[in-house]
Amino acid sequence: MADQCMPGWILATLFGLSAIYYLVTKKKEQRANKDLLEARSESVNSIATTSGECRSSNVSDVDVIIVGAGVAGAALAHTLGKDGRQVHVIERDLTEPDRIVGEFLQPGGYLKLIELGLEDCVEKIDAQRVFGYALFKDGKHTRLSYPLEKFHSNVAGRSFHNGRFIQRMRDKAASLPNVQLEQGTVISLLEDKGTIRGVQYKTKDGQELKAFAPLTIVCDGCFSNLRRSLCNPKVDVPSCFVGMVLENCQLPCANHAHVILGDPSPILMYPISSTEVRCLVDVPGQKVPSISSGEMAKYLKTVVAPQLPPEVYDAFLAAVDKGNIRTMPNRSMPAAPYPTPGALLMGDAFNMRHPLTGGGMTVALSDIVVLRNLLRPLCNLNDAPTLCKYLESFYTLRKPVASTINTLAGALYKVFCASPDQAMKEMRQACFDYLSLGGVFSAGPVSLLSGLNPRPLSLVAHFFAVAIYGVGRLFCHSLHLNASGLELD
Ligand SMILES: Cc1cc2nc3c(=O)[nH]c(=O)nc-3n(C[C@H](O)[C@H](O)[C@H](O)COP(=O)(O)OP(=O)(O)OC[C@H]3O[C@@H](n4cnc5c(N)ncnc54)[C@H](O)[C@@H]3O)c2cc1C
Repeated sequence: MADQCMPGWILATLFGLSAIYYLVTKKKEQRANKDLLEARSESVNSIATTSGECRSSNVSDVDVIIVGAGVAGAALAHTLGKDGRQVHVIERDLTEPDRIVGEFLQPGGYLKLIELGLEDCVEKIDAQRVFGYALFKDGKHTRLSYPLEKFHSNVAGRSFHNGRFIQRMRDKAASLPNVQLEQGTVISLLEDKGTIRGVQYKTKDGQELKAFAPLTIVCDGCFSNLRRSLCNPKVDVPSCFVGMVLENCQLPCANHAHVILGDPSPILMYPISSTEVRCLVDVPGQKVPSISSGEMAKYLKTVVAPQLPPEVYDAFLAAVDKGNIRTMPNRSMPAAPYPTPGALLMGDAFNMRHPLTGGGMTVALSDIVVLRNLLRPLCNLNDAPTLCKYLESFYTLRKPVASTINTLAGALYKVFCASPDQAMKEMRQACFDYLSLGGVFSAGPVSLLSGLNPRPLSLVAHFFAVAIYGVGRLFCHSLHLNASGLELD
């Protein structure tokens, strides 16, 4: 009898489980939809299109609206403009930015600039060539050169004033007759029945206008106000960078970015012109010592300065005394888009990683290349739902570059921070020693983080190799101690 009932029990159980699974996932879906609608209602305005209002107010036949003309927006405007699109860029502030972000472009990013025809934007701005890293730990240092042998002699990293680079890209984009670059602040996205139709913005002279286009690309940066309706932003702030400019000093290794594995966390230096060196001091957590009370100057002089190479010590103290100290939160945010007809996110508004490895601009430029190639065969962008479906492949195609650079940035930041934990100390030392081995052991990881060879499989191979190397080091160390009659605790 029990045997006869068994199939029925199994079927009933399977059916019950399926029903529970369906109900749970449906509930989750409903909750996610509710969250999305709530988020949308904050940064999106509904519009009525019946009265024929769905037309650009001051620009006719615009194909693409770009919000923000930073690294991503300016490069994208030029790229789409060059491909013959009518582009309307709305940027909050068209004066030259003065920031401590986006000053070091990896060689992989430079290659993307070449692909986009923007490589001249790092010329005539006193940009410096960067040929690799110098890594410092406990007074020792090792040079990690970019494997550039196979590339044209022009290919290298570039470091510069961020504002000068952006201004060059903005000028180049605006020089195209089909690109309109306007100063204005976008207040909200305009939605009609789930499709983004354009934006509402405030012009320079305070007028509120609406602009319409079949595609709106939001590139409003790391503090994006508009992303919440287009993605699920899970922003993490593991640390802050404290930035200063060192003047009249020579770095120990010319034309190299310097990373000092300091305590509590890394310190970064690279030239940003022929006479200036950018120094970024990482401070873990979301709070930094107060600049106005003098706590920051004290921290920099007593905790940071003694860990620096002697060559930059005086210039560092002089920069602290000069007082032009700036801070920025270091954010990371995985890409988690809600594919939305009529709109797309790019740059930091879409995806962020710890800036230790200077990967942000390389990822943004690489994304622009992917998007350009996808859009190229499409003459008409007006069928928003079909375009949205088609552009879903963008999220897959960008992954090899973006996820390699993002993962490595997060992992290296964790490993390069000082820790009281013995295992983490061993890992940090193992990583430094592994990279010091040279050859493929330094060239591999460096070409991953620089975007020269952004292959996820190579990343996995090096993760394992460092772990095995670390265990081997410990094993040899313990053998050595045992042989000399000492014991490990
Ligand atoms: C401390 C720090 C250091 C970094 N260093 C490096 C580095 O050395 N190398 C590197 O590759 N990456 C670095 N990054 C990351 C890099 O800066 C970003 O990845 C890059 O700037 C992203 O470009 P973006 O165009 O998305 O944003 P941004 O360059 O910030 O541009 C956003 C633009 O949008 C405009 N905007 C904002 N809101 C609106 C609005 N409502 N309406 C109209 N316009 C608006 C802004 O004015 C701005 O011009 C660093 C990041 C940090 C935090």
